[in-house]
Amino acid sequence: MNEEHFKKIISHSKEFGFIFPSSEIYDGLSATYDYGQNGIELKNNIKKYWWKSMVQMNENIVGLDAAIFMHPTTWKASGHVDAFNDPLIDNKDSKKRYRADVLIEDHIGKIEEKNNKDVKKAKKRFGNDFDENTFRTTNGNILRRNEEIKTIESKMEVAFNGDNLDAIYDLIIELGIKCPVSGSNNWTKVRQFNLMFSTEIGSLSDDSSKIYLRPETAQGIFVNYLNVQKTGRKKLPFGIAQIGKAFRNEIIARQFIFRMREFEQMEMQFFIKPGSQKEWYNHWKETRIAWHKSLGFNNEDLRFHDHIKLAHYADAACDIEFKFPFGFKELEGIHSRTDFDLKQHEEHSKKKQRYFDPELNESYVPYVVETSIGLDRMFLALLSHSLKEEELENGSSRVVLSIAPPLAPTKAAILPLVKKDGLGEKAKEIYHSLKLDFQCLYEEKDSIGKRYRRNDAIGTPFCITIDHETLEDNKVTLRERDTMNQKRVLIKDLSTIIDQKTNMKTLF
Ligand code: ATP
Repeated sequence: MNEEHFKKIISHSKEFGFIFPSSEIYDGLSATYDYGQNGIELKNNIKKYWWKSMVQMNENIVGLDAAIFMHPTTWKASGHVDAFNDPLIDNKDSKKRYRADVLIEDHIGKIEEKNNKDVKKAKKRFGNDFDENTFRTTNGNILRRNEEIKTIESKMEVAFNGDNLDAIYDLIIELGIKCPVSGSNNWTKVRQFNLMFSTEIGSLSDDSSKIYLRPETAQGIFVNYLNVQKTGRKKLPFGIAQIGKAFRNEIIARQFIFRMREFEQMEMQFFIKPGSQKEWYNHWKETRIAWHKSLGFNNEDLRFHDHIKLAHYADAACDIEFKFPFGFKELEGIHSRTDFDLKQHEEHSKKKQRYFDPELNESYVPYVVETSIGLDRMFLALLSHSLKEEELENGSSRVVLSIAPPLAPTKAAILPLVKKDGLGEKAKEIYHSLKLDFQCLYEEKDSIGKRYRRNDAIGTPFCITIDHETLEDNKVTLRERDTMNQKRVLIKDLSTIIDQKTNMKTLF
Protein backbone atom coordinates (compact mmCIF):
# COMPACT_ATOMS: atom_id res chain seq x y z
CA MET A 1 0.00 0.00 0.00
CA ASN A 2 1.41 3.33 -1.05
CA GLU A 3 -0.35 5.30 1.65
CA GLU A 4 1.61 8.50 1.07
CA HIS A 5 0.66 8.63 -2.61
CA PHE A 6 -2.98 7.86 -1.83
CA LYS A 7 -3.16 10.66 0.74
CA LYS A 8 -1.63 13.04 -1.77
CA ILE A 9 -4.24 12.14 -4.37
CA ILE A 10 -7.04 12.87 -1.91
CA SER A 11 -5.62 16.19 -0.73
CA HIS A 12 -4.65 17.24 -4.26
CA SER A 13 -8.17 16.45 -5.50
CA LYS A 14 -9.62 18.81 -2.93
CA GLU A 15 -7.01 21.55 -3.19
CA PHE A 16 -7.30 21.81 -6.96
CA GLY A 17 -11.06 21.52 -7.36
CA PHE A 18 -11.30 17.93 -8.58
CA ILE A 19 -13.27 16.28 -5.78
CA PHE A 20 -14.93 17.58 -2.62
CA PRO A 21 -16.57 15.56 0.13
CA SER A 22 -20.34 15.82 -0.39
CA SER A 23 -22.21 18.37 1.76
CA GLU A 24 -18.96 19.17 3.47
CA ILE A 25 -20.35 22.07 5.52
CA TYR A 26 -22.38 19.43 7.38
CA ASP A 27 -19.24 17.31 7.85
CA GLY A 28 -19.89 15.32 4.69
CA LEU A 29 -21.81 12.12 4.02
CA SER A 30 -19.82 8.93 4.11
CA ALA A 31 -18.67 7.56 0.76
CA THR A 32 -20.35 10.35 -1.23
CA TYR A 33 -18.35 12.90 -3.19
CA ASP A 34 -18.91 15.90 -5.44
CA TYR A 35 -16.84 16.69 -8.51
CA GLY A 36 -15.47 20.23 -8.62
CA GLN A 37 -14.66 22.56 -11.51
CA ASN A 38 -11.71 20.51 -12.76
CA GLY A 39 -13.18 17.15 -11.77
CA ILE A 40 -16.26 17.61 -13.93
CA GLU A 41 -14.14 18.48 -16.98
CA LEU A 42 -11.96 15.40 -16.53
CA LYS A 43 -15.00 13.22 -15.90
CA ASN A 44 -16.74 14.56 -19.01
CA ASN A 45 -13.62 13.91 -21.09
CA ILE A 46 -13.40 10.29 -19.89
CA LYS A 47 -17.06 9.82 -20.82
CA LYS A 48 -16.47 11.44 -24.20
CA TYR A 49 -13.53 9.15 -24.98
CA TRP A 50 -15.42 6.07 -23.87
CA TRP A 51 -18.50 7.07 -25.89
CA LYS A 52 -16.42 7.78 -28.99
CA SER A 53 -14.58 4.46 -28.68
CA MET A 54 -17.65 2.37 -27.98
CA VAL A 55 -20.44 4.06 -29.93
CA GLN A 56 -19.03 6.35 -32.58
CA MET A 57 -16.21 4.00 -33.63
CA ASN A 58 -18.42 0.89 -33.83
CA GLU A 59 -21.05 0.88 -36.53
CA ASN A 60 -22.98 -1.83 -34.70
CA ILE A 61 -23.16 -0.13 -31.28
CA VAL A 62 -25.69 2.55 -30.38
CA GLY A 63 -26.39 4.53 -27.22
CA LEU A 64 -29.24 4.72 -24.75
CA ASP A 65 -30.21 6.77 -21.71
CA ALA A 66 -32.70 4.84 -19.59
CA ALA A 67 -34.34 6.09 -16.40
CA ILE A 68 -32.83 5.36 -13.00
CA PHE A 69 -36.20 4.21 -11.67
CA MET A 70 -37.47 1.02 -13.22
CA HIS A 71 -40.51 -1.17 -12.69
CA PRO A 72 -39.81 -3.13 -9.48
CA THR A 73 -40.30 -6.46 -11.25
CA THR A 74 -37.14 -5.68 -13.23
CA TRP A 75 -35.10 -6.36 -10.11
CA LYS A 76 -37.02 -9.50 -9.26
CA ALA A 77 -36.32 -10.80 -12.77
CA SER A 78 -32.65 -9.80 -12.74
CA GLY A 79 -32.10 -11.62 -9.47
CA HIS A 80 -31.13 -8.50 -7.55
CA VAL A 81 -33.99 -8.74 -5.03
CA ASP A 82 -33.03 -12.27 -4.05
CA ALA A 83 -29.35 -12.50 -4.80
CA PHE A 84 -27.68 -9.10 -4.88
CA ASN A 85 -26.03 -9.69 -1.56
CA ASP A 86 -22.63 -9.32 -0.09
CA PRO A 87 -21.47 -11.82 2.53
CA LEU A 88 -20.49 -9.75 5.53
CA ILE A 89 -18.72 -10.54 8.74
CA ASP A 90 -18.14 -8.41 11.86
CA ASN A 91 -15.18 -8.39 14.16
CA LYS A 92 -16.58 -8.52 17.69
CA ASP A 93 -13.67 -6.61 19.21
CA SER A 94 -13.28 -3.70 16.79
CA LYS A 95 -16.99 -3.75 15.78
CA LYS A 96 -15.76 -3.28 12.20
CA ARG A 97 -17.65 -4.88 9.35
CA TYR A 98 -15.97 -6.54 6.36
CA ARG A 99 -16.92 -8.32 3.18
CA ALA A 100 -15.94 -11.94 3.74
CA ASP A 101 -14.81 -12.48 0.14
CA VAL A 102 -12.63 -9.35 0.30
CA LEU A 103 -10.95 -10.56 3.50
CA ILE A 104 -10.02 -13.83 1.81
CA GLU A 105 -8.91 -12.12 -1.40
CA ASP A 106 -6.72 -9.72 0.58
CA HIS A 107 -5.18 -12.74 2.32
CA ILE A 108 -4.37 -14.23 -1.10
CA GLY A 109 -2.97 -10.84 -2.15
CA LYS A 110 -0.55 -10.96 0.78
CA ILE A 111 0.73 -14.37 -0.29
CA GLU A 112 1.20 -13.05 -3.86
CA GLU A 113 3.04 -10.08 -2.42
CA LYS A 114 5.54 -12.46 -0.75
CA ASN A 115 6.18 -14.06 -4.14
CA ASN A 116 6.73 -10.66 -5.72
CA LYS A 117 9.17 -9.73 -2.99
CA ASP A 118 11.18 -12.92 -3.60
CA VAL A 119 11.25 -12.15 -7.33
CA LYS A 120 12.48 -8.62 -6.65
CA LYS A 121 15.23 -9.88 -4.36
CA ALA A 122 16.37 -12.49 -6.87
CA LYS A 123 16.33 -9.90 -9.66
CA LYS A 124 18.68 -7.76 -7.63
CA ARG A 125 20.96 -10.70 -6.83
CA PHE A 126 21.23 -12.15 -10.35
CA GLY A 127 21.19 -8.90 -12.32
CA ASN A 128 21.02 -9.26 -16.09
CA ASP A 129 21.08 -13.08 -16.00
CA PHE A 130 17.77 -13.19 -14.19
CA ASP A 131 14.90 -14.93 -15.95
CA GLU A 132 11.69 -14.19 -14.05
CA ASN A 133 9.64 -16.85 -15.77
CA THR A 134 12.09 -19.64 -14.89
CA PHE A 135 12.36 -18.37 -11.34
CA ARG A 136 8.60 -18.28 -10.89
CA THR A 137 8.18 -21.80 -12.24
CA THR A 138 11.05 -23.45 -10.34
CA ASN A 139 11.61 -21.66 -7.04
CA GLY A 140 10.51 -23.89 -4.15
CA ASN A 141 8.95 -21.17 -1.99
CA ILE A 142 7.00 -19.70 -4.88
CA LEU A 143 5.69 -23.08 -5.99
CA ARG A 144 4.61 -23.90 -2.44
CA ARG A 145 2.82 -20.55 -2.08
CA ASN A 146 1.11 -20.97 -5.47
CA GLU A 147 -0.22 -24.34 -4.27
CA GLU A 148 -1.45 -22.66 -1.12
CA ILE A 149 -3.29 -20.00 -3.19
CA LYS A 150 -4.83 -22.67 -5.41
CA THR A 151 -6.16 -24.55 -2.38
CA ILE A 152 -7.68 -21.40 -0.89
CA GLU A 153 -9.24 -20.45 -4.21
CA SER A 154 -10.81 -23.83 -4.72
CA LYS A 155 -12.25 -23.84 -1.18
CA MET A 156 -13.59 -20.34 -1.82
CA GLU A 157 -15.15 -21.43 -5.08
CA VAL A 158 -16.97 -24.36 -3.47
CA ALA A 159 -18.18 -22.24 -0.54
CA PHE A 160 -19.39 -19.28 -2.63
CA ASN A 161 -20.95 -21.28 -5.43
CA GLY A 162 -22.83 -23.36 -2.87
CA ASP A 163 -23.82 -20.21 -0.91
CA ASN A 164 -22.36 -21.97 2.09
CA LEU A 165 -21.87 -19.14 4.58
CA ASP A 166 -20.59 -21.51 7.30
CA ALA A 167 -17.85 -22.77 5.00
CA ILE A 168 -16.78 -19.18 4.28
CA TYR A 169 -16.60 -18.52 8.01
CA ASP A 170 -14.61 -21.74 8.54
CA LEU A 171 -12.15 -20.71 5.82
CA ILE A 172 -11.56 -17.31 7.45
CA ILE A 173 -10.85 -19.03 10.77
CA GLU A 174 -8.67 -21.73 9.15
CA LEU A 175 -6.54 -19.10 7.40
CA GLY A 176 -6.12 -17.23 10.66
CA ILE A 177 -7.36 -13.99 9.09
CA LYS A 178 -7.33 -11.20 11.64
CA CYS A 179 -9.15 -7.88 11.78
CA PRO A 180 -6.68 -5.19 10.65
CA VAL A 181 -8.03 -2.87 13.35
CA SER A 182 -8.28 -5.06 16.48
CA GLY A 183 -5.80 -7.71 15.37
CA SER A 184 -8.12 -10.43 16.68
CA ASN A 185 -9.96 -13.24 14.92
CA ASN A 186 -13.02 -12.96 17.10
CA TRP A 187 -15.52 -13.02 14.20
CA THR A 188 -19.32 -13.22 14.00
CA LYS A 189 -20.87 -15.70 11.58
CA VAL A 190 -21.10 -14.64 7.92
CA ARG A 191 -24.45 -13.08 6.90
CA GLN A 192 -25.95 -11.84 3.63
CA PHE A 193 -26.78 -8.17 3.12
CA ASN A 194 -28.80 -6.78 0.18
CA LEU A 195 -27.15 -3.86 -1.55
CA MET A 196 -30.13 -2.16 -3.18
CA PHE A 197 -31.50 1.16 -1.95
CA SER A 198 -35.27 1.30 -1.92
CA THR A 199 -37.75 4.14 -1.74
CA GLU A 200 -41.46 4.68 -2.33
CA ILE A 201 -43.13 6.06 -5.36
CA GLY A 202 -46.16 8.34 -4.91
CA SER A 203 -47.92 8.67 -1.59
CA LEU A 204 -48.80 5.04 -0.89
CA SER A 205 -46.46 3.17 1.34
CA ASP A 206 -47.56 -0.41 0.79
CA ASP A 207 -45.31 -2.94 -0.86
CA SER A 208 -46.59 -2.26 -4.37
CA SER A 209 -45.16 1.26 -4.31
CA LYS A 210 -41.66 0.19 -3.29
CA ILE A 211 -39.10 0.92 -5.97
CA TYR A 212 -35.34 0.66 -6.13
CA LEU A 213 -32.55 2.94 -7.21
CA ARG A 214 -30.89 0.93 -9.98
CA PRO A 215 -27.77 -0.90 -8.77
CA GLU A 216 -26.49 -1.21 -12.35
CA THR A 217 -27.32 0.44 -15.65
CA ALA A 218 -27.41 -2.87 -17.51
CA GLN A 219 -31.08 -3.70 -16.88
CA GLY A 220 -32.20 -0.46 -18.55
CA ILE A 221 -30.47 -1.77 -21.65
CA PHE A 222 -31.97 -5.27 -21.44
CA VAL A 223 -35.58 -4.08 -21.16
CA ASN A 224 -35.02 -1.80 -24.17
CA TYR A 225 -33.11 -4.20 -26.37
CA LEU A 226 -36.07 -5.02 -28.62
CA ASN A 227 -37.07 -1.34 -28.85
CA VAL A 228 -33.62 -0.49 -30.15
CA GLN A 229 -33.30 -3.59 -32.32
CA LYS A 230 -36.64 -2.99 -34.03
CA THR A 231 -36.55 0.80 -34.41
CA GLY A 232 -32.86 0.78 -35.36
CA ARG A 233 -33.32 -2.30 -37.59
CA LYS A 234 -30.29 -3.88 -35.96
CA LYS A 235 -28.93 -7.25 -36.89
CA LEU A 236 -27.01 -9.46 -34.46
CA PRO A 237 -24.32 -8.90 -33.31
CA PHE A 238 -25.03 -5.41 -32.05
CA GLY A 239 -24.45 -3.47 -28.86
CA ILE A 240 -26.16 -0.86 -26.71
CA ALA A 241 -24.05 1.48 -24.60
CA GLN A 242 -25.10 3.61 -21.68
CA ILE A 243 -23.50 5.96 -19.16
CA GLY A 244 -25.39 6.62 -15.96
CA LYS A 245 -25.64 6.65 -12.20
CA ALA A 246 -25.96 3.47 -10.17
CA PHE A 247 -26.52 3.08 -6.44
CA ARG A 248 -25.38 0.40 -4.00
CA ASN A 249 -25.66 0.37 -0.26
CA GLU A 250 -22.08 -0.82 0.11
CA ILE A 251 -21.27 -2.32 3.51
CA ILE A 252 -17.86 -0.87 3.61
CA ALA A 253 -17.68 2.17 1.43
CA ARG A 254 -14.15 3.45 1.63
CA GLN A 255 -11.01 4.14 -0.34
CA PHE A 256 -12.18 7.54 -1.51
CA ILE A 257 -14.07 7.38 -4.82
CA PHE A 258 -13.15 3.72 -5.35
CA ARG A 259 -16.23 2.42 -3.55
CA MET A 260 -19.12 4.82 -3.27
CA ARG A 261 -22.81 4.42 -2.62
CA GLU A 262 -23.71 6.62 -5.60
CA PHE A 263 -21.46 6.19 -8.62
CA GLU A 264 -21.46 6.23 -12.38
CA GLN A 265 -21.10 3.32 -14.76
CA MET A 266 -20.24 3.11 -18.44
CA GLU A 267 -21.73 -0.15 -19.67
CA MET A 268 -22.13 -1.81 -23.02
CA GLN A 269 -24.22 -4.91 -23.63
CA PHE A 270 -23.33 -6.76 -26.80
CA PHE A 271 -26.11 -9.01 -28.16
CA ILE A 272 -24.87 -12.07 -29.98
CA LYS A 273 -25.81 -15.43 -31.43
CA PRO A 274 -25.81 -18.20 -28.79
CA GLY A 275 -22.60 -20.21 -29.12
CA SER A 276 -20.47 -17.25 -30.16
CA GLN A 277 -20.02 -15.95 -26.60
CA LYS A 278 -16.48 -17.22 -26.16
CA GLU A 279 -15.26 -15.47 -29.29
CA TRP A 280 -16.94 -12.15 -28.34
CA TYR A 281 -15.86 -12.41 -24.72
CA ASN A 282 -12.25 -12.64 -25.91
CA HIS A 283 -12.78 -9.86 -28.42
CA TRP A 284 -14.06 -7.45 -25.77
CA LYS A 285 -11.33 -8.43 -23.30
CA GLU A 286 -8.69 -7.47 -25.87
CA THR A 287 -10.50 -4.34 -27.03
CA ARG A 288 -11.03 -3.01 -23.54
CA ILE A 289 -7.49 -3.59 -22.29
CA ALA A 290 -6.18 -1.83 -25.42
CA TRP A 291 -8.45 1.14 -24.54
CA HIS A 292 -6.84 1.43 -21.12
CA LYS A 293 -3.36 1.17 -22.58
CA SER A 294 -4.12 3.95 -25.08
CA LEU A 295 -4.36 6.33 -22.12
CA GLY A 296 -0.75 5.68 -21.16
CA PHE A 297 -1.22 3.17 -18.34
CA ASN A 298 1.83 0.95 -17.96
CA ASN A 299 1.57 -2.75 -18.80
CA GLU A 300 2.55 -3.68 -15.26
CA ASP A 301 -0.26 -1.54 -13.80
CA LEU A 302 -2.99 -3.53 -15.54
CA ARG A 303 -3.93 -7.19 -15.34
CA PHE A 304 -6.82 -9.56 -15.93
CA HIS A 305 -8.31 -11.37 -12.99
CA ASP A 306 -10.63 -14.28 -13.74
CA HIS A 307 -13.59 -14.58 -11.39
CA ILE A 308 -13.61 -17.53 -9.06
CA LYS A 309 -17.08 -16.82 -7.79
CA LEU A 310 -19.21 -16.44 -10.90
CA ALA A 311 -22.30 -14.25 -10.56
CA HIS A 312 -25.63 -16.00 -10.98
CA TYR A 313 -25.92 -14.78 -14.58
CA ALA A 314 -22.44 -15.45 -15.97
CA ASP A 315 -20.70 -18.33 -17.79
CA ALA A 316 -17.35 -16.51 -17.86
CA ALA A 317 -16.20 -13.32 -16.20
CA CYS A 318 -13.05 -11.39 -15.55
CA ASP A 319 -11.99 -8.04 -14.24
CA ILE A 320 -9.47 -5.63 -15.64
CA GLU A 321 -7.60 -4.71 -12.51
CA PHE A 322 -5.56 -1.56 -12.06
CA LYS A 323 -2.74 -1.15 -9.60
CA PHE A 324 -4.28 1.50 -7.34
CA PRO A 325 -2.14 2.88 -4.49
CA PHE A 326 -3.89 0.30 -2.26
CA GLY A 327 -3.11 -2.61 -4.60
CA PHE A 328 -4.57 -4.30 -7.68
CA LYS A 329 -8.35 -3.82 -7.69
CA GLU A 330 -11.21 -4.09 -10.15
CA LEU A 331 -11.56 -1.24 -12.59
CA GLU A 332 -13.76 -2.86 -15.20
CA GLY A 333 -15.71 -6.09 -15.48
CA ILE A 334 -16.17 -8.16 -18.63
CA HIS A 335 -18.95 -10.68 -18.29
CA SER A 336 -20.40 -13.30 -20.53
CA ARG A 337 -23.99 -13.04 -19.22
CA THR A 338 -25.49 -15.79 -21.42
CA ASP A 339 -29.23 -15.36 -22.12
CA PHE A 340 -29.96 -15.17 -18.40
CA ASP A 341 -31.26 -11.59 -18.21
CA LEU A 342 -33.39 -11.63 -21.37
CA LYS A 343 -34.88 -15.01 -20.49
CA GLN A 344 -35.73 -13.78 -17.02
CA HIS A 345 -37.42 -10.69 -18.44
CA GLU A 346 -39.31 -12.83 -20.92
CA GLU A 347 -40.60 -14.98 -18.09
CA HIS A 348 -41.51 -12.14 -15.73
CA SER A 349 -43.00 -9.77 -18.31
CA LYS A 350 -44.64 -12.54 -20.37
CA LYS A 351 -43.39 -10.69 -23.46
CA LYS A 352 -41.21 -12.50 -25.95
CA GLN A 353 -37.62 -11.26 -25.96
CA ARG A 354 -36.63 -13.14 -29.10
CA TYR A 355 -34.68 -12.02 -32.09
CA PHE A 356 -35.67 -13.25 -35.51
CA ASP A 357 -32.53 -14.33 -37.29
CA PRO A 358 -33.12 -13.85 -41.04
CA GLU A 359 -30.13 -16.02 -41.95
CA LEU A 360 -31.22 -19.02 -39.91
CA ASN A 361 -34.91 -18.24 -40.37
CA GLU A 362 -35.58 -18.83 -36.67
CA SER A 363 -36.11 -16.88 -33.45
CA TYR A 364 -34.02 -17.14 -30.32
CA VAL A 365 -33.05 -15.22 -27.20
CA PRO A 366 -29.64 -13.65 -27.84
CA TYR A 367 -26.64 -14.14 -25.60
CA VAL A 368 -24.93 -11.11 -24.11
CA VAL A 369 -21.35 -10.10 -23.43
CA GLU A 370 -21.05 -7.03 -21.23
CA THR A 371 -18.27 -4.55 -20.58
CA SER A 372 -18.86 -2.52 -17.43
CA ILE A 373 -16.52 0.13 -16.16
CA GLY A 374 -16.87 2.46 -13.18
CA LEU A 375 -16.35 6.04 -14.29
CA ASP A 376 -15.25 7.13 -10.82
CA ARG A 377 -12.76 4.27 -10.57
CA MET A 378 -11.38 5.24 -13.98
CA PHE A 379 -11.02 8.79 -12.69
CA LEU A 380 -9.12 7.54 -9.65
CA ALA A 381 -6.91 5.29 -11.80
CA LEU A 382 -6.00 8.25 -14.00
CA LEU A 383 -5.17 10.43 -11.00
CA SER A 384 -3.08 7.66 -9.41
CA HIS A 385 -1.16 7.16 -12.63
CA SER A 386 -0.67 10.82 -13.52
CA LEU A 387 -0.03 12.67 -10.29
CA LYS A 388 3.71 13.05 -9.78
CA GLU A 389 6.14 15.07 -7.81
CA GLU A 390 9.16 15.82 -10.01
CA GLU A 391 12.61 16.93 -8.96
CA LEU A 392 13.82 19.69 -11.25
CA GLU A 393 17.36 20.40 -12.41
CA ASN A 394 17.59 23.57 -10.36
CA GLY A 395 16.97 21.57 -7.19
CA SER A 396 13.34 22.61 -6.76
CA SER A 397 10.37 20.34 -7.38
CA ARG A 398 6.96 20.57 -9.00
CA VAL A 399 3.69 18.68 -8.76
CA VAL A 400 2.41 17.72 -12.18
CA LEU A 401 -0.61 15.86 -13.41
CA SER A 402 0.74 14.31 -16.58
CA ILE A 403 -2.59 13.09 -17.83
CA ALA A 404 -3.16 12.27 -21.53
CA PRO A 405 -3.72 15.77 -23.06
CA PRO A 406 -7.09 14.92 -24.68
CA LEU A 407 -8.44 14.16 -21.19
CA ALA A 408 -6.93 17.21 -19.47
CA PRO A 409 -9.60 19.42 -17.83
CA THR A 410 -8.14 22.56 -19.43
CA LYS A 411 -6.25 22.44 -22.70
CA ALA A 412 -4.62 25.87 -22.58
CA ALA A 413 -4.12 28.56 -19.96
CA ILE A 414 -3.92 32.10 -21.32
CA LEU A 415 -1.66 34.19 -19.11
CA PRO A 416 -0.80 37.87 -19.59
CA LEU A 417 2.60 38.53 -18.05
CA VAL A 418 1.08 41.63 -16.46
CA LYS A 419 -2.44 42.97 -16.69
CA LYS A 420 -1.51 46.51 -17.68
CA ASP A 421 -0.08 48.00 -20.91
CA GLY A 422 -2.77 46.31 -23.00
CA LEU A 423 -1.48 42.78 -22.28
CA GLY A 424 -4.66 41.83 -20.46
CA GLU A 425 -6.78 42.87 -23.44
CA LYS A 426 -4.55 41.01 -25.90
CA ALA A 427 -4.70 37.87 -23.74
CA LYS A 428 -8.51 38.08 -23.54
CA GLU A 429 -8.63 38.40 -27.31
CA ILE A 430 -6.62 35.16 -27.64
CA TYR A 431 -8.82 33.48 -25.01
CA HIS A 432 -11.97 34.37 -26.96
CA SER A 433 -10.48 33.15 -30.23
CA LEU A 434 -9.64 29.72 -28.76
CA LYS A 435 -12.55 29.08 -26.41
CA LEU A 436 -14.93 27.69 -29.01
CA ASP A 437 -12.57 24.84 -29.85
CA PHE A 438 -10.78 24.23 -26.55
CA GLN A 439 -11.52 24.37 -22.84
CA CYS A 440 -9.31 27.32 -21.87
CA LEU A 441 -8.73 29.39 -18.79
CA TYR A 442 -7.64 32.96 -18.36
CA GLU A 443 -5.49 33.88 -15.35
CA GLU A 444 -3.80 37.15 -14.47
CA LYS A 445 -3.18 36.80 -10.73
CA ASP A 446 0.24 35.88 -9.21
CA SER A 447 3.68 35.56 -10.75
CA ILE A 448 3.98 33.68 -14.02
CA GLY A 449 5.97 30.94 -12.26
CA LYS A 450 3.15 30.36 -9.78
CA ARG A 451 0.59 30.27 -12.56
CA TYR A 452 2.69 27.67 -14.42
CA ARG A 453 2.81 25.53 -11.28
CA ARG A 454 -0.95 25.77 -10.74
CA ASN A 455 -1.56 24.68 -14.30
CA ASP A 456 0.93 21.80 -14.02
CA ALA A 457 -1.01 20.65 -10.97
CA ILE A 458 -4.30 20.45 -12.88
CA GLY A 459 -2.66 18.90 -15.95
CA THR A 460 -3.01 21.80 -18.44
CA PRO A 461 -0.93 20.74 -21.48
CA PHE A 462 -0.19 24.30 -22.67
CA CYS A 463 0.44 27.67 -21.04
CA ILE A 464 0.35 30.68 -23.34
CA THR A 465 2.11 33.78 -22.06
CA ILE A 466 1.47 37.19 -23.53
CA ASP A 467 4.25 39.74 -22.98
CA HIS A 468 5.16 43.17 -24.29
CA GLU A 469 6.78 41.77 -27.42
CA THR A 470 3.51 40.05 -28.31
CA LEU A 471 2.02 43.44 -29.10
CA GLU A 472 4.74 43.97 -31.69
CA ASP A 473 5.38 40.57 -33.25
CA ASN A 474 2.05 38.76 -32.63
CA LYS A 475 3.97 35.91 -31.00
CA VAL A 476 3.41 34.34 -27.58
CA THR A 477 5.48 32.07 -25.37
CA LEU A 478 4.08 28.56 -25.51
CA ARG A 479 5.09 26.38 -22.56
CA GLU A 480 4.55 22.68 -22.72
CA ARG A 481 3.53 20.88 -19.51
CA ASP A 482 5.60 17.70 -19.71
CA THR A 483 8.88 19.01 -21.06
CA MET A 484 8.49 22.54 -19.65
CA ASN A 485 10.01 23.68 -22.95
CA GLN A 486 9.13 27.17 -24.01
CA LYS A 487 9.09 28.54 -27.52
CA ARG A 488 7.75 31.59 -29.27
CA VAL A 489 4.97 30.88 -31.73
CA LEU A 490 2.63 32.99 -33.84
CA ILE A 491 -0.82 33.56 -32.37
CA LYS A 492 -2.37 32.35 -35.62
CA ASP A 493 -0.64 28.95 -35.22
CA LEU A 494 -1.88 28.31 -31.66
CA SER A 495 -5.08 26.56 -32.62
CA THR A 496 -3.29 24.01 -34.84
CA ILE A 497 -0.57 23.30 -32.27
CA ILE A 498 -3.05 22.79 -29.42
CA ASP A 499 -5.27 20.62 -31.59
CA GLN A 500 -2.39 18.35 -32.64
CA LYS A 501 -1.76 17.43 -29.04
CA THR A 502 -5.18 17.53 -27.41
CA ASN A 503 -7.51 16.17 -30.05
CA MET A 504 -9.08 12.88 -29.00
CA LYS A 505 -8.09 11.51 -32.41
CA THR A 506 -4.53 11.17 -31.11
CA LEU A 507 -5.72 8.39 -28.78
CA PHE A 508 -7.04 6.18 -31.55
P1 ATP B 1 -16.61 -4.86 -6.47
O1 ATP B 1 -16.28 -6.33 -6.48
O2 ATP B 1 -15.39 -3.98 -6.38
O3 ATP B 1 -17.69 -4.50 -5.51
P2 ATP B 1 -18.40 -5.42 -8.58
O4 ATP B 1 -17.82 -6.67 -9.13
O5 ATP B 1 -19.57 -5.51 -7.70
O6 ATP B 1 -17.25 -4.54 -7.89
P3 ATP B 1 -19.68 -4.76 -11.03
O7 ATP B 1 -21.02 -5.13 -10.55
O8 ATP B 1 -18.99 -5.65 -11.99
O9 ATP B 1 -18.73 -4.45 -9.78
O10 ATP B 1 -19.77 -3.27 -11.60
C1 ATP B 1 -19.05 -2.83 -12.74
C2 ATP B 1 -18.10 -1.71 -12.42
O11 ATP B 1 -18.75 -0.68 -11.66
C3 ATP B 1 -16.92 -2.12 -11.55
O12 ATP B 1 -15.89 -2.64 -12.33
C4 ATP B 1 -16.52 -0.81 -10.90
O13 ATP B 1 -15.63 -0.09 -11.72
C5 ATP B 1 -17.83 -0.06 -10.79
N1 ATP B 1 -18.33 -0.10 -9.40
C6 ATP B 1 -19.00 -1.10 -8.80
N2 ATP B 1 -19.32 -0.78 -7.54
C7 ATP B 1 -18.84 0.48 -7.33
C8 ATP B 1 -18.87 1.38 -6.23
N3 ATP B 1 -19.48 1.06 -5.10
N4 ATP B 1 -18.27 2.59 -6.37
C9 ATP B 1 -17.66 2.93 -7.53
N5 ATP B 1 -17.62 2.13 -8.60
C10 ATP B 1 -18.21 0.92 -8.53
